[in-house]
Amino acid sequence: MRQAPFKDPRVKKLPFEYADITEKLVSAGLRPTRQRLLLGGLLFTDECRHVSAESLHREARAAGVEVSLATIYNTLHQFTDTGLLKEVSIEGGKSYFDTNVSAHHHFLCEESGKLTDIPGEHITLQNLPTPPMGTQISSVDVVIRLRPAN
Ligand SMILES: [Zn+2]
Repeated sequence: MRQAPFKDPRVKKLPFEYADITEKLVSAGLRPTRQRLLLGGLLFTDECRHVSAESLHREARAAGVEVSLATIYNTLHQFTDTGLLKEVSIEGGKSYFDTNVSAHHHFLCEESGKLTDIPGEHITLQNLPTPPMGTQISSVDVVIRLRPAN
């Protein structure tokens, strides 16, 4: 049975099924609270998404969800800690949260700041340096920066 776990007249119709999101949260070990369900519903759609806390905040408000930016940050970090999202940091401390948690790389459009996925197998990494003593490479994330062609 697919039914919203609560009824909030301020929340407009959202494009997702709560049951799917509940299952996703529970299998990641998170309690399906109202806010996690709402934000999870915005994030976990059929397409891969890259959001910043600010962009998700705007999106939530547009959907009629009143939630503070601090709550958005907390929720994004909880989702990242439990493996539901991957954090992609670009210089200047700018963080994106990626719903594609598989190993992959990105194109970054310098003008718009938009990230686009590059499947992991589309880039061949060779001659990686030996990591410093006592460490091992955990992952390699390639960001290819784009600007308009002349
Ligand atoms: Zn990505």
